[in-house]
Amino acid sequence: MKTERDPKAGHQSASVATPTVVAASDSCAGGPSPAVMATYARQNLSFVRGEGTWLITPEGDRYLDLASGVAVNVLGHTHPRLVEALQAQAGKLWHTSNLYRVAGQERVAERLVDLTFADRVFFCNSGAEACEGAIKTARRYHFVNGAPERWRIITFHGAFHGRTLATLAAAGNPKYLEGFGPEVQGFDHVPFGDHDALEKAVTAETAAIMIEPVQGEGGVRTVPDQCLKGLRDLCDDKGLLLIFDEVQTGIGRSGRLFAHEWAGISPDIMAIAKGIGGGFPLGAFLATEDAAKGMTAGTHGSTFGGNPLAMAVADAVLDAVLERDFLTEVQDKALRFKQALEGLKDQFPDMIAEVRGLGLLMGVRLMPAYLPADVVSAAIEQKLLLVGAGDNVVRLLPPLNISDEDIGKAVQRFAEALECARGKGA
Ligand SMILES: *Cc1c(COP(=O)(O)O)cnc(C)c1O
Repeated sequence: MKTERDPKAGHQSASVATPTVVAASDSCAGGPSPAVMATYARQNLSFVRGEGTWLITPEGDRYLDLASGVAVNVLGHTHPRLVEALQAQAGKLWHTSNLYRVAGQERVAERLVDLTFADRVFFCNSGAEACEGAIKTARRYHFVNGAPERWRIITFHGAFHGRTLATLAAAGNPKYLEGFGPEVQGFDHVPFGDHDALEKAVTAETAAIMIEPVQGEGGVRTVPDQCLKGLRDLCDDKGLLLIFDEVQTGIGRSGRLFAHEWAGISPDIMAIAKGIGGGFPLGAFLATEDAAKGMTAGTHGSTFGGNPLAMAVADAVLDAVLERDFLTEVQDKALRFKQALEGLKDQFPDMIAEVRGLGLLMGVRLMPAYLPADVVSAAIEQKLLLVGAGDNVVRLLPPLNISDEDIGKAVQRFAEALECARGKGA
């Protein structure tokens, strides 16, 4: 099925400077190049163009993108406002380094401060760097408080905080740590949802608790509101800092600007990335004035972090996400999408164990006889892009501005993919 072709393929588009033929540099012909380090198990699929919720291959085939670059393209592809912001900035100034003031940084930081619990923002380039910076901030806080022995951080099984040595140690996934030498010290891992283990893990050396309000890579596992509140109380009680990793859940994905807003509490430090750049590499960590007090001149830095190009795009992303009704619409769409997925669960009770998630971070947990990778592959056959996750879950992460029509198409294609994958399972 799905022989839809891109109507613009091979034609000059009026609005976008689309080349008449696909440039050789845009095409992935033949097998994957060995010149690219083989660290990813990639699909044999590439794209030359994106339009909203759609990605277009060199051949002109259109794929419905519910991966969104793993929760990155919050406004879909080539959103006119983001294209305009980037192009305007590209003609003015790209990079000056953090030796000088950057007006865009000051503007975006002030917006984030106005919108959140935070008083201070540091810009970096990725989620891992944002988490790493959050960890450093927490340790440094206790150091300048005269308690340098408080440097350990409690984290949770199934967590994902990035691929640097410290963030790998923070998550503690043995599969990702193997072969990379001695693990960075200072992380105490407790089972997800085990309150007793958590209380026991707090010692005189504990600096902070770090958690994703919804585990993304771990399988779209939501931390219940009362547990987030309990963590806040525990931290207040013991003088610990609470760090939220909202790299995947932030910037409207949950239906609120940040997922922790649903619980009515706030952290002391928060890592963000993915959505904030709408596709332009950008991360940040945010902190209260008190939590940030150790991060003084010379304690941290990044060459590229918060450069004018990234800031111009982030400013435009915030404009769009904060527009009246945008987040309410995300909530409404999420509700309709989830109801449709529940319908699929009734239709495929032998395949779908559970539909879960928060906002447009949605997970479909499969029965043990089925593997997410097989469903993701079957979906590709239907020209639908999905993402696997831990805990036998398939993730659906549409652009936040997906239309109801595209939600309908996605559900239909997902159903056809499940039908095809059924033959391969059990
Ligand atoms: C993706 C992700 C990261 C790592 O982000 P990178 O940009 O890949 O370094 C960290 N934490 C969470 C929750 C994520 O989803």
